Amino acid sequence: RQEQYRSLRDLPSLTRDGVAVGLQLNAGLLVDLSHLHETGAEGIGLFRTELQFMVAERMPSAAEQQTLYEAVFSAAGGLPVTIRTLDIGGDKILPYMKALEEENPALGWRAIRIGLDRPGLLRMQLRALLKAAGGRPLKIMFPMVATVEEFVRARAIVDREKAHLSRHGHPLPSDCRLGVMVEVPSLLFQMDEIAAEADFLSVGSNDLMQFLFAVDRDNRQVADRFDPLSAAALRAFRLIAERANAAGTPATVCGEIGGRPLEAMALIGLGFRSLSMSPASVGPVKAMVLSLDAGAVGAFLDAELARTRDGASLRPALAAFAEAN
Ligand code: PEP
Ligand code: MG
Repeated sequence: RQEQYRSLRDLPSLTRDGVAVGLQLNAGLLVDLSHLHETGAEGIGLFRTELQFMVAERMPSAAEQQTLYEAVFSAAGGLPVTIRTLDIGGDKILPYMKALEEENPALGWRAIRIGLDRPGLLRMQLRALLKAAGGRPLKIMFPMVATVEEFVRARAIVDREKAHLSRHGHPLPSDCRLGVMVEVPSLLFQMDEIAAEADFLSVGSNDLMQFLFAVDRDNRQVADRFDPLSAAALRAFRLIAERANAAGTPATVCGEIGGRPLEAMALIGLGFRSLSMSPASVGPVKAMVLSLDAGAVGAFLDAELARTRDGASLRPALAAFAEAN
């Protein structure tokens, strides 16, 4: 099987009806970049910067951060890398940072909330990123954004850092795009506004499903109570893809479901043209893409979603569709 997938590596990622579906990698450490070449992925769709912070014994200095980012950009060899700013808090604890006592850490002081409340940390990271990407294109995205205003504030911090670096004679990135993780359900009701403000969107389906269904992503007791292929979830994904496409704002799915062939097939049917996944998923997802009729699966999903009366999972129907097509 692995051999077979390797033979797909250099084929363009196109469906049978000619739809291009970009496949990218999720990464968190420098070693993950080695998979870029062997998978033939088009870039890094999600670089989880908190990994560096979680494996360290103390807060990484600005210089250490910059060194890592430079190494990541070099290892990517010109392929695009989407860097996510620190997503700490919730289940991601830094041993050297005093954690708050919170009743509901997943809903607590985390990610962009910490970044905006204590901008020192975010500013240091952004400066390291902007310096590391001097002269090259840079894509940055912010985790756990719940309101358009949070993104606008984060962008203002980036703009200040850019102005600061310019004043001090540092070369800026050749192109700097700022994106938003769509993983808090409140954004579903601000899609037009966020798609207009952000340069790109990336759906964090792990958290989006957790919050949409109120199901702890790490609690096995409740994990089977919902299906990302149920009507409610599929309609949420469809809404995001439709509004993003209407605004001309690129949208990727970077949660785990993008790496599962059946789920990935559904996401393409709903309108996503870019998926980011773990390295081992690229082969199986690419094999699915090459054999897929994107228009047919889209029409099939629209019909099923219009027809369902109980909102149950479309998994069996999608599996039968995949089998027959
Ligand atoms: C997600 O929530 O889907 C995501 C990609 O981010 P993480 O898994 O790091 O929370
Ligand atoms: Mg997340």
